[in-house]
Amino acid sequence: MPVALPGQIRTIVREYAIFALVVVTTILLWVMAKVFTHQPPDLWPWLAPSQILGLIAAALMAVVLMAGARSHTLEWMFGGLDRGIQMHRRVGLTALILVGVHLLLLVPAWIERGIPLADLFVPFYSPHTRTPDILITYAFVALAFLAYNKRLRYDRWQLIHRTNGFLFAVFAIRILVVPGSITEYEPLRTWMVFLATAGILAFLYRILLFNRFGPRYRYAVDQIKPRTEEIYDLVLRPAERRMIYDPGTFAFLSVPNSPSVPSEMHPFSFSSTLVNRDVRFSIRAVGDYTKALRDLPVGAAVDVYGPFGGFTPHAFVHYRRLVLIGSGIGITPFLSMLSFELTNNDFRRIWLYYVARNRDDAAYHEEIENSYLKADSYIDYDLWVTSERGRITAAAIAEDLKPIEDDYAVMLCGTVPFNRDLARQFRALGVPAARIIAEEFAFR
Ligand SMILES: Cc1cc2nc3c(=O)[nH]c(=O)nc-3n(C[C@H](O)[C@H](O)[C@H](O)COP(=O)(O)OP(=O)(O)OC[C@H]3O[C@@H](n4cnc5c(N)ncnc54)[C@H](O)[C@@H]3O)c2cc1C
Repeated sequence: MPVALPGQIRTIVREYAIFALVVVTTILLWVMAKVFTHQPPDLWPWLAPSQILGLIAAALMAVVLMAGARSHTLEWMFGGLDRGIQMHRRVGLTALILVGVHLLLLVPAWIERGIPLADLFVPFYSPHTRTPDILITYAFVALAFLAYNKRLRYDRWQLIHRTNGFLFAVFAIRILVVPGSITEYEPLRTWMVFLATAGILAFLYRILLFNRFGPRYRYAVDQIKPRTEEIYDLVLRPAERRMIYDPGTFAFLSVPNSPSVPSEMHPFSFSSTLVNRDVRFSIRAVGDYTKALRDLPVGAAVDVYGPFGGFTPHAFVHYRRLVLIGSGIGITPFLSMLSFELTNNDFRRIWLYYVARNRDDAAYHEEIENSYLKADSYIDYDLWVTSERGRITAAAIAEDLKPIEDDYAVMLCGTVPFNRDLARQFRALGVPAARIIAEEFAFR
């Protein structure tokens, strides 16, 4: 079996370049701090790695806040907000683990110095105990791990996220003022102040300013069209100016002045094309929000914030052959792309797979067959019903593509396990990791 590891590592480094840059700069400045300032004799073997991991964790957290900031200005650094939020989740967890390792490495250092361990872990233990730091770290780590609990109600999850942002701000201010490597070496301090400020500003923009100053377009409900028992189209008409968006991108919806819809913002991909005046979202009713949206009256105001995301074929113009695989409601970004193809003469070869549990669930099968296959691009379409054919596999798709070897890009949209599994299969077939682009319909 071919192992695409070096390619995969290259892709990870390219995608996570901003994080890599921050880590390398932080390490370099820390090394310079150690060279140019006075150091304790017992720096090695425990204190030094502990310090560097703590610093890297703080630096990563600042960038993690920028990645999730919903800011057009910052989005490009992460390849789109959708990717940024995936990074926010993954790198955030890495940073938390680093905080844990940082603390554990202090244990042997404290033992060597003959300081009671309780001084490190127990608040108010002695006059030397750094009680505020201990309490902030405990609260921060506990809440941050809770933020990975997918079963939490959305509003509680949001509250935890917000509290964590505030704790990060307090944590960052503490490490900038408490005497240590940062305060001793000005270039390192300037760098950490810069990162912490950028992280805190990104967080404040996200929670205080985005609602009011974010890219908001007022629309009104024009039509809600049921497709199946669970799936419906929400068609919105611009009330003022129209949003211009790339096919495959998404927006956050918020419903002002409606007691029946929670005052939250949820992300949905466009399933329409920008050449139409109205925008369409195709939604599966899975919880409170998506069920409440379905019952909105015609004419109700809906605020559409966006567009966001990098899951658009425009971002990958150099890939001329595209394999598009949408599972369940994950077909929506592809409906937008196909609809756009009808008006686009930038010819591309497309293979589209619509994966559905059963025929009744394939809500957009007829629309695809009747409307999109006459586009200028040459499109092969396959409705893959899993109750009849079993799980779709990369090997089965590669069979359809023969004699083309790996000269195609794969765009995946489905649940996280679906995307991961197919991406792994395509990599095993030798498709370079950089050519596999996935959209996850989950921000937590
Ligand atoms: C970038 C992006 C684009 C998206 N585009 C679309 C879209 O075009 N159409 C669409 O219907 N949804 C889309 N989603 C998912 C959509 O945002 C969520 O389904 C919605 O926020 C759920 O809110 P809720 O309160 O109704 O359900 P919640 O109360 O949040 O969830 C209720 C239950 O449903 C489960 N659940 C949540 N989301 C899904 C899901 N997508 N599929 C199956 N089960 C789920 C939860 O685990 C929970 O058990 C997108 C998500 C992202 C991040």
